[in-house]
Amino acid sequence: MPYCTVCKIETDYEYDIALSNGEYVHYSCIIMLQMRQQEIESVLRTQKPQLILSIFVPTEIAQQDVIPKADIEDLRTKLAKLKSVLTKIYDHLPSWPPDWDERKRQFIRQNGLVCSGCGKEQDVYLLHDIPIFEGGTNELDNLTLICAECYRDTYHEGDIFGDFTLKPSQSEFSEQVAEIQSALDNHQKIQFKYKKPSAKRWMRRVVLPERLLNIPNNRESGETLCVEGFCDLRQATRVFALERMQALEVIED
Ligand SMILES: [Zn+2]
Ligand SMILES: [Zn+2]
Repeated sequence: MPYCTVCKIETDYEYDIALSNGEYVHYSCIIMLQMRQQEIESVLRTQKPQLILSIFVPTEIAQQDVIPKADIEDLRTKLAKLKSVLTKIYDHLPSWPPDWDERKRQFIRQNGLVCSGCGKEQDVYLLHDIPIFEGGTNELDNLTLICAECYRDTYHEGDIFGDFTLKPSQSEFSEQVAEIQSALDNHQKIQFKYKKPSAKRWMRRVVLPERLLNIPNNRESGETLCVEGFCDLRQATRVFALERMQALEVIED
């Protein structure tokens, strides 16, 4: 069994996340680090100890009305360490990381706000150079700014999402495919009800789709039409068969 890079305890495959550098991390460990970060940030913002969740702040501090300067310095150091641990995890998260906006700002600071294709200076989007599902990371050197026109010319016809065409036997899914394709184009999440063969209940899933793909099966149709994407529930990249979906819709933001 692989070990969690944060707590060094074994991961259990169900709720862990496989990072793109080969390491594993518990979903719960990421949440714990994020909560600790939020709490320290809020203490630093108010300069007053928080009464909630004070397990993360030494109790001597939590009992005072105002935090002494030395303790504030200490919390700042702790916060910097936490952030660097989280950044390393986010670097290799198999999805768009929570600090994407911060990465975008950093990228623009370093490289300017210019399309890498045509040099245009407005309406540019931050994208992965090597897509995540092909092993790309969220590190700055794998990111690129591109305008919508260059994106269409360079990637959309094939590279990013592959040459996906609907087989005649799969045309019953054409409406779902159109919805998913539009979510892919607009970088939107989809939601649907999903039932695994082994499961009794339908579960609501929210997924940021990354691509459509056909997976070979042993049945007559020969292939199962699937969407791969980052699942909010599992906090990991998962593959979903369209035939096991119901009530699919794009989430407008
Ligand atoms: Zn852990
Ligand atoms: Zn361009």
